[in-house]
Amino acid sequence: MSQASTLSTAPSLCPSSDPGVPGCVAFGVVLGSAEQPRLRQFEAPLPVSDDLLAMAGPARPTEVFRFAAPCACGACPNFQGDRCGLVTKIVRLLPATTEDLPPCLIRPQCRWWQEEGQAACLRCPEVVTDNPNPSALMRLACDPSSPIPALALPPAERKKGTTLKTYEDSSA
Ligand code: SF4
Ligand code: SF4
Repeated sequence: MSQASTLSTAPSLCPSSDPGVPGCVAFGVVLGSAEQPRLRQFEAPLPVSDDLLAMAGPARPTEVFRFAAPCACGACPNFQGDRCGLVTKIVRLLPATTEDLPPCLIRPQCRWWQEEGQAACLRCPEVVTDNPNPSALMRLACDPSSPIPALALPPAERKKGTTLKTYEDSSA
């Protein structure tokens, strides 16, 4: 866990939550393309309201917005051991989408930041909570039943369309 986790004693937030979770706020909108989605964060978190959710239509709100809410920990299928397996897989499987640490409204409380630090933030802009068109590696990362690879994939293997052999080897 990084030093950032000591900045706040408030509950850790999941940055890919669902608007139905108590305490949830919207903190950004997914722009970009289906192949290269990019999160743009709001200037301030927005409360979840019927009007906000309706703006996503006909898509699901989790296809359009990113929501943050207290991490469900053991009640979440992505929680493995005492950590968020989702962000560990994202960091070990996917390439960074930016070279610079993006500004973030929720960083001190974000579980992904607390666990994986900058590596999580450099990949966070590509995360769509309900992604209808994920890359093969993003699909693996988001599958709670997929094992956490013991080693990070080499950068060349992280490109979209890569074979998954290296992943399978590293998960053995
Ligand atoms: S374990 Fe990960 S994906 Fe699940 S609620 Fe917590 S931060 Fe979110
Ligand atoms: S940019 Fe980093 S701190 Fe902000 S939500 Fe994403 S992972 Fe969390």
